[in-house]
Amino acid sequence: MKAAVLEKPGRLAIKELPDPSCPPGGVVVKVLASQVCSTDLHMWQRGHPALRCPRILGHEIAGVVAKSSSEVQGFKRGDKVQVYPGISCGTCRFCCQGRENLCPSIRILGFSVDGGFGQYLALPEKAINNGCLNPVTYALSAAEAAMAEPLACCLNGLEKVALKEGETVLVLGAGPIGCLFAMVAKHHGSGKVILLEKDPGRISQAGQGLEVDLLDANKVDVVDAVMELTEGQGADVVVTCFREAALEYPLLDLAAQGGRVLMFSGISADKGVVPTDLNAVHYRELALVGAYGCTSVQCQRALGFMADGLDVSWLISQRVALHHLEESFSNLAAKKVMKICVEPWEDNNGLVWQ
Ligand SMILES: [Zn+2]
Ligand SMILES: [Zn+2]
Repeated sequence: MKAAVLEKPGRLAIKELPDPSCPPGGVVVKVLASQVCSTDLHMWQRGHPALRCPRILGHEIAGVVAKSSSEVQGFKRGDKVQVYPGISCGTCRFCCQGRENLCPSIRILGFSVDGGFGQYLALPEKAINNGCLNPVTYALSAAEAAMAEPLACCLNGLEKVALKEGETVLVLGAGPIGCLFAMVAKHHGSGKVILLEKDPGRISQAGQGLEVDLLDANKVDVVDAVMELTEGQGADVVVTCFREAALEYPLLDLAAQGGRVLMFSGISADKGVVPTDLNAVHYRELALVGAYGCTSVQCQRALGFMADGLDVSWLISQRVALHHLEESFSNLAAKKVMKICVEPWEDNNGLVWQ
């Protein structure tokens, strides 16, 4: 099979590798769509604490079952699946609570085990037993099904802040994740959604797909503008949707009394520790909340929301073959595109998504 292998940060090679054999109790998925995430870009540029090279990246995956071990119940050749990218232990307290994204021994496809930028993906028995495969029974394309993972990460964030109907949400950053977050907040009955962005390309891309209050951070005083849009209250939920949001914007000042600040995006390790006014948290009853990754059940929910009419397809700017992956990283770094869908099988001969 062909696969894009990150040999080390900065060096990506398209390689011909042996087709994976089916692990006992596991399956082999023929990958038909693998979305490029900003984390993949980050790994290519600088690496990542959880990355082990050489590695086939890609953790937003959909495809069809190509081979299935005889012991595997419920999945047969040709079934359409979305792949939850975590292989958790299934027995720790977090796994038992359905919070497998916090499992201390979780291995993540495209981070510490091979992911979706290859034509086939072998999943071991443990992955199947712990719910890595979600059947796609809806009328969604493979590219849309692969969007379930980033959408599920947004659902996870939304659950962590317990969004209530009518609440104002301020999304910092109008990249793909910021746009997905804005959409999912609306879908969950939020009130006003304010999207803040400073990149002109991102502003026009987001403006084409979303009906939200879009603020150009270059043209306004951010705190004043948010206060104006929220009748002087601030936002009930403030969410960081790009890496340095916590450095660029005064998160706590943007939040309403009793509001929640969601650290959805991390901060680059070399930026150090961000000072935080904990007295503001105390006196104004703010909550500072984190969210990282998602669970398999949240991926199932995300598939359901898309089937219900949450249309994410406008975010998919390009569909490319495997050998265009490096160029795609450059386009993503330059913010020329939103999501790029890698289709490792260009010809689709044999097994297809139908
Ligand atoms: Zn991702
Ligand atoms: Zn666990």
